[in-house]
Amino acid sequence: MSFLFGNRSSKTFKPKKSIPEGSHQYELLKHAEATLGSGNLRMAVMLPEGEDLNEWVAVNTVDFFNQINMLYGTITDFCTEESCPVMSAGPKYEYHWADGTNIKKPIKCSAPKYIDYLMTWVQDQLDDETLFPSKIGVPFPKNFMSVAKTILKRLFRVYAHIYHQHFDSVIQLQEEAHLNTSFKHFIFFVQVLIYYVLLTIGSAPKSHWWYFPYHFVMIFHKR
Ligand SMILES: [Zn+2]
Repeated sequence: MSFLFGNRSSKTFKPKKSIPEGSHQYELLKHAEATLGSGNLRMAVMLPEGEDLNEWVAVNTVDFFNQINMLYGTITDFCTEESCPVMSAGPKYEYHWADGTNIKKPIKCSAPKYIDYLMTWVQDQLDDETLFPSKIGVPFPKNFMSVAKTILKRLFRVYAHIYHQHFDSVIQLQEEAHLNTSFKHFIFFVQVLIYYVLLTIGSAPKSHWWYFPYHFVMIFHKR
């Protein structure tokens, strides 16, 4: 959905992760953008017929990383050691950074530092060809879905921080429409993903509880 940001001089926080033109993943991205362009967010998150779920998740995860990269990039001047000495999303949620491999014991740090750790960690996962294979025929690892879930869970915290601590700046910069559309797209994507995952294990709910953001928020706010 990065196309919604147009050609304005977007300052990204980390370098944009690009999907090579001409690849199948690039075609999937274009498909998603075309559906989004028609204004149908619900349709845009659905797995296109005959496509591989892992590949769909990979393309969308890269796209969300790029979107958040741009959104956070626009407010970095407002998110400082002084303004945000701890990484939080409102008074109830304070996050301490640990990636589970290099940093096992959670570190209490400022929001800009935390988000730097987080985005660098996501970037490292996306660049890892064994996790996110970009070449046709190279299989996704068995734990791909669980890695993707962790990435999405962590990316959610950046949205949460921007909404809770920097929404005034977002309005001042007239970025709220971008932020809201991006976040809505993200929520819809995660909802449909939860549904697909439940389908694959044969326990998809009959009712449409997964349409309600409440469940999503409850799942993703937990560590
Ligand atoms: Zn901040």
